Amino acid sequence: MTTRRKKIYEGKAKILYEGPEPGTLIQYFKDDATAFNAQKKAILEGKGVINNRISEYIMTRLNGIGVQNHFIRRLNLREQLIKEVEIVPLEVVVRNIAAGSIATRLGLTEGQPLPRSIIEFYYKDDKLGDPMVSEEHITAFNWAATQEIDDMMAMALRVNDYLSGLFSGVGITLVDFKVEFGRIYEGDFSRIILADEISPDSCRLWDSATNEKLDKDRFRRDLGNVIESYTEVARRLGIMKEMPTVIQGGVH
Ligand code: UDP
Repeated sequence: MTTRRKKIYEGKAKILYEGPEPGTLIQYFKDDATAFNAQKKAILEGKGVINNRISEYIMTRLNGIGVQNHFIRRLNLREQLIKEVEIVPLEVVVRNIAAGSIATRLGLTEGQPLPRSIIEFYYKDDKLGDPMVSEEHITAFNWAATQEIDDMMAMALRVNDYLSGLFSGVGITLVDFKVEFGRIYEGDFSRIILADEISPDSCRLWDSATNEKLDKDRFRRDLGNVIESYTEVARRLGIMKEMPTVIQGGVH
């Protein structure tokens, strides 16, 4: 007898299933790509497999430098075992170079280095198009406590420092990225850990020599070669070994 496992949540690019033991979930990476608040949609064959692998690599490395996160282990091509967390309803964006919405909002030239790394918060609500919010909104509406905001900012900056170095070592500039955090409860206490994924879907990654985009902007802006670019990121990180079959579309 087999029973269907319980789906906990389905998002745009991932599905969360009940895990094998309490406090765990299985995170499944889909091939679906969406942009502009899901107005633009496509299936990019193999994307889920690549992002599962890239996110595993990055989360494992971050764990190694003490940035606690939800990743436990990869289960197969598309799935990873993760810790169940209570997601903080914020997208935390760290920017090093002007691109995307900050360039539009503040009239900056894309590619212009920012005076220092800048952290922004967006309230996770698809109906509202994830509006940017300030710390005042976050504490007033109880989305996170002041201490939690401090913890998220400190962790986001550590992730930025570490990933900037990791990527620059393989000829890639980390322009900006988005992370999400969750709470883990231990008795009367809760702790903030890094959650979700870190992949070319959630980062802007430019080839350091040519400024060629190797991230989701290839999809957003119809630049083509999306999977090829994600694969190139994986290859440079040295995690290509089991991936060539993906490109042929043979893996689901
Ligand atoms: N980002 C993301 N998910 C979102 C919005 C943004 O992963 O829902 C990432 C995006 O890939 C980029 C960074 O966060 O690396 C900053 O995005 P920006 O605010 O410039 O948004 P966009 O250009 O997508 O409007």
